[in-house]
Formats: sequence, structure tokens, C-alpha cells
Amino acid sequence: MSPAKKTPPPPPKTIEVGDDVDAKCTKCKGVTKHIVLAKIGWKPTRVECHTCKGQHAFRAPGTATRKTAAKAAPDIPPEEQWKAVMKNVTGTPRPYETSGEYTLGIHMKHKKFGEGVVIGLNSQTVCEVAFEEGIKKLIMGSRRTPGS
Ligand SMILES: [Zn+2]
Repeated sequence: MSPAKKTPPPPPKTIEVGDDVDAKCTKCKGVTKHIVLAKIGWKPTRVECHTCKGQHAFRAPGTATRKTAAKAAPDIPPEEQWKAVMKNVTGTPRPYETSGEYTLGIHMKHKKFGEGVVIGLNSQTVCEVAFEEGIKKLIMGSRRTPGS
């Protein structure tokens, strides 16, 4: 009986000197094919651009150009955002007081900003409230005297 053959996992794709890699070229102002001239470990260190024949340090494609990666901030005007959150609340808004305790979704009325909804809690003493004119950070639960 032949022992069960274990198929080894395919080795990770290693880049060798002389291989083509995608890298950023400052002269070409973009990602182009480069020949690896030198490497340390798995990482190419020096490359030559196929397009401009320039030699430079390896820059991995897709770094430093992260414009929209981390925060996909919704491009919604504050008024629209406010309308959207106001749809979810009913009843009479609670008057805003610095000593009040607010949780997410609380419908409140501010003397200056009007009606709003708590959409975020920054800390135990700061809440973010969506008002028609924008999101405001308000103090809450300030019975404890701050700055003593
Ligand atoms: Zn180039």
C-alpha cells in the first residue's frame, strides 16, 4: 500500500533578480514593469524601468497613493444627513443640558442649533449631535466639575 501522498503547498511566489515586477517609476509617473536588479530577502531593492530604463530603488505599486482607502467619508451635505437621522426619531425632543446623559439616537433640542440626534459618543462627557447645520460636539454629563 502506498502511503497517502501529501501534496505540498505551492511555494510562495518569490521574486528573483532578473524577474519583471510591477513597481512605481517616478520618471514615468506611474506603475510600470521593472527588472529586479537587486533584492534583500523577498523584497526587491533596486529595479530598472522597462519604459525609461531608469534605475532606482524599488517602490511597491499601490503605496503612498491611498486617497480614498481609509476613510470613505460620505459626501453628504450636513443638511441631508440631518434629515436622514431625523426620520428615525419621533416624539418630543429632550432639551439639551450640559448635565444631561445622552445615548445614541437621542432626539434633542438645542437652544442655538435646534433639533438634532445623537449620532456618536466621543467619550463619557462628549457626544456628537447631528444638527441641520452640521455635526456638533456637545458636552454632556458635566455634573462632575471639570478642571479641578
Ligand atoms: Zn520609468
